[in-house]
Amino acid sequence: MFEITHEEENTESRLGKLTLPKSSITLETPCFICSTQRGFVRHLTPDNLLNIPDIELLSINLPQIIYKPGLTTLKRFNKYCQEKESSIEIKEKENQKEKDQEIGKEKEKTNKKEQEKENESNLKIGEEKGIEIEIEDENDNNKQNQIKDGLKRYYGIGSKHALFLKIRNSEFAGFYYPSTDEKIACCSSEGTKIFITPSQYMEFASEINPDITVSPAIEVVGNNKRDKIEKQVKRSLKWLNLAISKKTARTGSLFAVLYAIEDPKIRNKYLDQLLKIVKNGKVDGFLFGCLFLNESRIERKKRISEITELLPKELPRSIVGDATLSQILDCVEKGIDLINSSFPLKLTELNLVLNYQNPLQNLRSENKNKNQKKNKNEDIEIENENENENKKQFEPLLMNLRNIKYEDDNKPFVVGCQCFACKNHTRQYVYHLISVREMTAMILMNLHNIYQYSLFFKDMRWAIKNNKFIQFKEAIETLEKSNLK
Ligand SMILES: [Zn+2]
Repeated sequence: MFEITHEEENTESRLGKLTLPKSSITLETPCFICSTQRGFVRHLTPDNLLNIPDIELLSINLPQIIYKPGLTTLKRFNKYCQEKESSIEIKEKENQKEKDQEIGKEKEKTNKKEQEKENESNLKIGEEKGIEIEIEDENDNNKQNQIKDGLKRYYGIGSKHALFLKIRNSEFAGFYYPSTDEKIACCSSEGTKIFITPSQYMEFASEINPDITVSPAIEVVGNNKRDKIEKQVKRSLKWLNLAISKKTARTGSLFAVLYAIEDPKIRNKYLDQLLKIVKNGKVDGFLFGCLFLNESRIERKKRISEITELLPKELPRSIVGDATLSQILDCVEKGIDLINSSFPLKLTELNLVLNYQNPLQNLRSENKNKNQKKNKNEDIEIENENENENKKQFEPLLMNLRNIKYEDDNKPFVVGCQCFACKNHTRQYVYHLISVREMTAMILMNLHNIYQYSLFFKDMRWAIKNNKFIQFKEAIETLEKSNLK
């Protein structure tokens, strides 16, 4: 399911391939798990996402769908789909039988003619048979790719995206409701308290039919008393065992929650017990919890590093947090593979547009220049040209489209950006849309922000592959600092 393809020389960052057989998707990691509302990226339709590279894994939280559509509706829907599928299969089989019979009759008629032809050209017939077999294989693949039921079919999310199911609503990460021994307290999209048992959660997972299910776990907040934290962590281990016992093909891969809590004693004790369970081979990956609360960057890196040292390398690690670019790089530097974030959306809702393009252009041109230096002596001229280009193109990392300076700016958000918004619209048009509170502004800005965010991940993978992660991170940090000036 997960394969590491490259480990960076100077950091613990790594490249990998995560295969999700249910959706026939292979993700290149590190990558981005896009936060959604019931499987939809806010302001966009599934079609909009198809033109954005790397947006294939979508996260959903149980509280978003616990009432709408709810377990009963999903069960009824799945039953209806399964009955429909089976009736289609029976019809297909009957049609196939009829076809076979017809073909049999025709074959009898043509057998005599074919025998004559065979003598003339054996090779040609061999080729035709080969083509027939290929067509049959294609049909089988198409059948496998169809989504038979589950939440993706219910909402029409489409087969090109995979689902990552969590019990917690990441938008309310700071909210804390006490759970009981039997039930997990969650925060609904409206901010109300919901109680759910781990068995109910797994039942939901089975009906949702996601690619990845995160094990049911309790929110642990750092400022809780030690005995309380220990109690909560114990419950989560018990529930992980329950999730393993209820794991099926329908619930997908199971990711265990890691508690990156401040107290190293409780953390390590929990990790010891967790790793014993992981040895049984029923856990397919990890999700880091208790981070991006109020801890410092140094503290966060330290905790991640101390935990990843003990984890088996061959399992993917994910993290939840609306992190900035450099905060994401902190995590990836310590060996995190998947980042679940709604950072681009948060920017969009503040009328901010991400302009991330500059740093890697410098790094890539450095690479090109080095290669050219070996061959020719024209390197000085080329370097000067690149410097001039970069000076011309320099613009802040974040642009606030409500700023009046964009009123007459007829450039796209980012010159050279290949997203739909930049190819077709200008800053002044979006400035106008924002001014008149037209919703299209959000759609265009979110399309662009997600596109730029995915480019950031693409370039991050390039930097890891070329062992330039540290330089890449420095360039991003410089860019972020320049934006604050
Ligand atoms: Zn764009």
